[in-house]
Amino acid sequence: MAINRAFIFLGPPGAGKGTQAKRIAKLSGVPHLSTGDMMRDAVSRGTDLGKVVGPIMQRGELVSDELVMKMIEERLAQPDCAAGCLFDGFPRTLPQAEGLDRILDSKGFGKPVVVDLSVGEEKLLRRLTGRRTCSVGGEIYNVYDAPPKVDGICDNDGGKLVQRADDTAEVVRQRLAAYDRATKPLTEYYRRQGVLHVVDASASMDEVSRALGEIVKRAEGRNGHL
Ligand code: AMP
Repeated sequence: MAINRAFIFLGPPGAGKGTQAKRIAKLSGVPHLSTGDMMRDAVSRGTDLGKVVGPIMQRGELVSDELVMKMIEERLAQPDCAAGCLFDGFPRTLPQAEGLDRILDSKGFGKPVVVDLSVGEEKLLRRLTGRRTCSVGGEIYNVYDAPPKVDGICDNDGGKLVQRADDTAEVVRQRLAAYDRATKPLTEYYRRQGVLHVVDASASMDEVSRALGEIVKRAEGRNGHL
């Protein structure tokens, strides 16, 4: 069902944002906008943007606000975003959050619904270093907690499972540091606006999905299943 509103998934790398964002976007029928996925796509296609952001991502640092905002503005101008969308991995800095507020205002959207997926650091490290992604359909596994039936192969389509270049222990530390420095303050920003929902994301994926589903349903002002 279309909704005239944006959902924002905050949370450190490894909180399960990608998995949950895909599920919730599918259930509520809005496009899933992951700035990380968009940039990985640009890198793998070898575009000009990809050439610039590739090395930055490789180091676990943040891409400039200017480039990110340009990418988001172009994406939001597409007709499938007219009734709403779900942001995953965006905004990641205060200027991005302020920029997004202006865009949402100009599109006549209501206040965004923001969820913060909160998880302790030990669990994050396990999730990130154990994460594998299907090179064909993008399905996400974890070698410790959610392994595929056959090692290295996707259950759904037989695609090869690959580790993201930035999921190595060294780069993960950088990414967590960037999160603490630049993104964590956003929870306060949205809390002050009265739009923040904190969800304990150390629970199982299905439990977290249920909690998120409830928040989305309430935001859409309806009962029953999504
Ligand atoms: P993600 O897939 O969301 O973990 O993002 C992977 C990498 O892409 C990050 O470590 C950053 O280098 C870059 N990135 C993704 N989204 C943003 C953003 N909103 N602002 C700055 N850099 C980003």
